[in-house]
Amino acid sequence: MISFEIPEMILNQSQMTKMVAEQAMRPYSRELDEHEHQRPEAFVNMTWPFAQQMMKSSLRSIEKKLSGNGNGRNGSNGHSKPKGPDFSILGFIMMVEEMSWGDTGQYLCLPHPMLGGSAVQAAGTPEQQLRFLKKFTEGEPKWGAMAITEPGAGSDNSSMRTTAVLDPDTNEWILNGEKIFITNGKLALEESDGLCVVWATIDPTAGRAGIKSFVVEGNTPGVSIAKQEHKLGIRASDTVSLHFDNVRLPFDNMLGTLDAKQPAANKGFKGAMKTFDASRPAVAASAVGIARAALEFTRDKLAEEGIVLDYTKSQHELTAVERDLMEMEARHKGAWLLTLRAVGMMAHGESNRLAASMCKFRAGEAVTWITQKAVELLGPMGYSREWLAEKWMRDAKINDIYEGTKQINQLIIARSILGYSRRELK
Ligand SMILES: Cc1cc2nc3c(=O)[nH]c(=O)nc-3n(C[C@H](O)[C@H](O)[C@H](O)COP(=O)(O)OP(=O)(O)OC[C@H]3O[C@@H](n4cnc5c(N)ncnc54)[C@H](O)[C@@H]3O)c2cc1C
Repeated sequence: MISFEIPEMILNQSQMTKMVAEQAMRPYSRELDEHEHQRPEAFVNMTWPFAQQMMKSSLRSIEKKLSGNGNGRNGSNGHSKPKGPDFSILGFIMMVEEMSWGDTGQYLCLPHPMLGGSAVQAAGTPEQQLRFLKKFTEGEPKWGAMAITEPGAGSDNSSMRTTAVLDPDTNEWILNGEKIFITNGKLALEESDGLCVVWATIDPTAGRAGIKSFVVEGNTPGVSIAKQEHKLGIRASDTVSLHFDNVRLPFDNMLGTLDAKQPAANKGFKGAMKTFDASRPAVAASAVGIARAALEFTRDKLAEEGIVLDYTKSQHELTAVERDLMEMEARHKGAWLLTLRAVGMMAHGESNRLAASMCKFRAGEAVTWITQKAVELLGPMGYSREWLAEKWMRDAKINDIYEGTKQINQLIIARSILGYSRRELK
């Protein structure tokens, strides 16, 4: 049974994040949307010290794990079940929700390992986690990214073409290929000494079994930004195509360990799936944050017109507008509760794959519907650039696309409930 009670420490942290959202994000929201690709400086400067603190506390728990002192975690890869709940995950998710209420495009520019960090934590050994994540606690702001998608491999990433070949003379990996639509790719690899976790095959004949993840650090020779995308929404966020041309990486930049006798049987792709278990609730939380922004704004504007919900009214007494507003509230709350459930399971060390897909699917759908309803209920001003409602509607749609599209998450849910394998239900 998952408790939905939120610890006071996390509520306080959430209050601080609310201040950041109100003071460093919302005021710049329109300008950064109009001037795509401009870095959100106020937000980055305000959040970098805070992001460093967050990373320091994550590293402390990894160090505890390494010293065998870690809250009951005792596996060598740090993935074993903890004895007590890990509330830092809930804290992060609450922060994502609040920042996305502020502005999702800017939240995605948080100087933090982000998806790259989730991948390092899901697939790396504790030693690798410490080695790669430590840089996010010092110096200038840094960003993390994760690159799976390729021109011919999105939802079905088993057809991935990017290769990593081991050079026996130098014991280095040589990476070649192209990745597209990579969030924070430029910030991580060109504008800072950050990192990008790149998924590549070490054996193209082995399908998923040949796929491993490799850490490419900022300013590594052979990496180039091929294209910067112009997007419908989240326009403050940096999205690029990356080219890898004979990029040489130290052997230990492959996350996890390699069995020399059976290199392709190392289940490297499970790391990608584990990354999604953590990242899908974060996307859901981000969707819920945008949905709340649209819902609160619409509710306030309707209240100015004298339309205030009376929950004691029966269904047939409600006007069409009141009914829509209630439906917006219900979809928003339902998506948030599903998200908290997926996060709660993670915090308790339980497998949350089904719950993660459920909340991602439901929140993506809810935010798309809620923001469209907001634009509709607000009349012509909802469509105007004077208010942010039209921007939230554009920002919302990405939640149905990245980290597994709506359809792919629906498939995962159906397979899990009906007991079908990937091959049986495609
Ligand atoms: C702004 C943005 C940021 C992104 N950031 C990242 C990132 O940081 N890292 C990264 O690796 N990728 C990123 N992506 C890529 C994103 O994850 C992919 O676009 C997504 O996974 C879909 O893959 P695809 O584009 O190849 O679409 P396709 O797989 O070609 O899908 C096209 C359509 O077909 C549907 N479809 C596909 N297969 C099935 C099926 N079996 N059954 C039913 N329907 C199906 C899909 O749901 C979709 O509607 C980003 C994309 C965008 C737009």
